[in-house]
Amino acid sequence: MKSFKDIYRSAENKIAGIGAAPGIVIGDVYLFTKEKLEISKASITDVEEAIKNLHEALERSKKELTKIFAIAKEKMGPTRAGIFEAHLMILDDPILILNIINRIKKEKKQPEYIVHDEITKYQDLMIISHESYMKERAHDIEDIKNRIVRNLRKKQWKSKIQSDVIIISETLTPADTLLLSRNKVKGFITDHGGLTSHAAIISRSLNIPAVVGTHDASHKLKEGQKVIVDGFHGYVLFNPTKAQIKFFEAKHEHLVSLQKELEHLVDQPAVTKDGKEIELLANVDVTGEIDIVKTSGAQGIGLYRSEQLLDEMGTIPSEEEQTTVYSRLASRMYPDSITIRAFDIGGDKFNLFDYDEPNPFLGLRGIRLLLENSKLFKEQIKAVLRASKNKNIKFMLPMVSTIVEIRRSKKIISDCMAELSKENIKFDSEMDIGIMVEVPSAAVMTKELAIEVDFLSIGTNDLVQYLMAVDRGNDLVSDLYQEFSPVVLRTIKMIVDDANRAGKPVSLCGEMAAETLAMPLLVGLGLESLSISPTTIPYAKKIITSFKFKDAKKMAKNCVENCFEEEIVNNLEKFFEKNNIVRTRNII
Ligand code: PEP
Ligand code: MG
Repeated sequence: MKSFKDIYRSAENKIAGIGAAPGIVIGDVYLFTKEKLEISKASITDVEEAIKNLHEALERSKKELTKIFAIAKEKMGPTRAGIFEAHLMILDDPILILNIINRIKKEKKQPEYIVHDEITKYQDLMIISHESYMKERAHDIEDIKNRIVRNLRKKQWKSKIQSDVIIISETLTPADTLLLSRNKVKGFITDHGGLTSHAAIISRSLNIPAVVGTHDASHKLKEGQKVIVDGFHGYVLFNPTKAQIKFFEAKHEHLVSLQKELEHLVDQPAVTKDGKEIELLANVDVTGEIDIVKTSGAQGIGLYRSEQLLDEMGTIPSEEEQTTVYSRLASRMYPDSITIRAFDIGGDKFNLFDYDEPNPFLGLRGIRLLLENSKLFKEQIKAVLRASKNKNIKFMLPMVSTIVEIRRSKKIISDCMAELSKENIKFDSEMDIGIMVEVPSAAVMTKELAIEVDFLSIGTNDLVQYLMAVDRGNDLVSDLYQEFSPVVLRTIKMIVDDANRAGKPVSLCGEMAAETLAMPLLVGLGLESLSISPTTIPYAKKIITSFKFKDAKKMAKNCVENCFEEEIVNNLEKFFEKNNIVRTRNII
């Protein structure tokens, strides 16, 4: 049986992009183009009339967007629909509108020119931001600009298209994505946009497979052409061969039946055949993901990457803003608990402070940076404490490499507690404090570090990079980034055993836990808690309920004693075969 790799290696009819919303669809192309608006800079004589037109256009735009917002709320829930609320707020921005009116009066130019110019300025500010999130938002605003201009011309978009097509476009605004989805489109392909573009987020919410960032798919593909969209791997195949169609149809069928089969597992615990229960928690990056967590069957949030907030907000959120976000997350999850990780800034994540570091991964990152910037750290700690009233928040320190870092952090935390007490602010004075074990020095010292904290969480994404001395984002050495290296397995075993000896709970929250092949191995190594992306949780349940703990333990022991990654992977594959477990990565 051919694999995806085989298919893509030999395919000359492929276009590569980013898999933005998972799924596989086969269908005909519909080129979605909007007439390019030529903006008129002509002079006007009747200023009063122009301002009246502007108000009418703004009102009409607001009406349209309110309708879109209502559809979005119904289809995607209030959190995700928030993007359209934000658009409505721009239409209501008194400073923006006043600027436009003043310029119309002063320059006596067509209002469409001034609207276009003012909103473009807004966008330019966002585009020069270093944050990818802000850049994406700038594209989203394009929609408002064009909407007002169109309404100034008293025109309507004709967005009626046939059903069951695959939409291809240079870009898609959130509103386009939402409105087009009402026509039962099968998939989306765009030239621009990344994983965080709202078109991508909306496709994921609506469960419509999407490949974005293809650069030139809209020029390469023709209306009516047959394509296969693979939203898992980020490829589009045009004019597919019979063999390709057969391959993808089989994958699609398999996927549908697997998803049906998994539905009933949502409310079931993950228990091995011989009765060992594994706790499954969710990793959360974007606050909007909380909706998926609630329906995924997760028993809590094992890792909330709080630094993503900086990306979402485009700036460092204030103590109050953080308190609101953390409180909301904690109450949505209650009584389940949520582990908030302190800002893991540095490395390849943000460069807030303009340090020029030759070796950022070995530099001022995670807890090191927070201890250097105690104001930032204290604000976050206080926000976390303020949100902890219901006692379901745990706080986790990233990139810990020494005991001193833990003690200094704990001192700051107790200072914050004392300050809040003085202000009579309620918080959980016994909030659990834990650490990420993701640096070799922490792994070696687990026994001693565990005594200092309430819990540990293994971060394999970094642990692998630091153990193997291989940059996790560098393609040139990616073959050395071996999650199944005996070095990694032995280190995980050592951490788990030391944590158990110290009587402290240990979880694993790196991507490795979501690799289905690794699940029996991690359980066999003694992990009783895994934190993974919420969408993987049903698959994890399916796998964990398919084998015996006793067999996994034996298999893990063999793997740990082996010296070669390849042989370890073979061992794991054999374990899957013997226990008749279907690997999801084989299916999708
Ligand atoms: C890890 O390093 O495994 C981890 C979970 O943290 P991040 O990927 O955010 O560095
Ligand atoms: Mg990490």
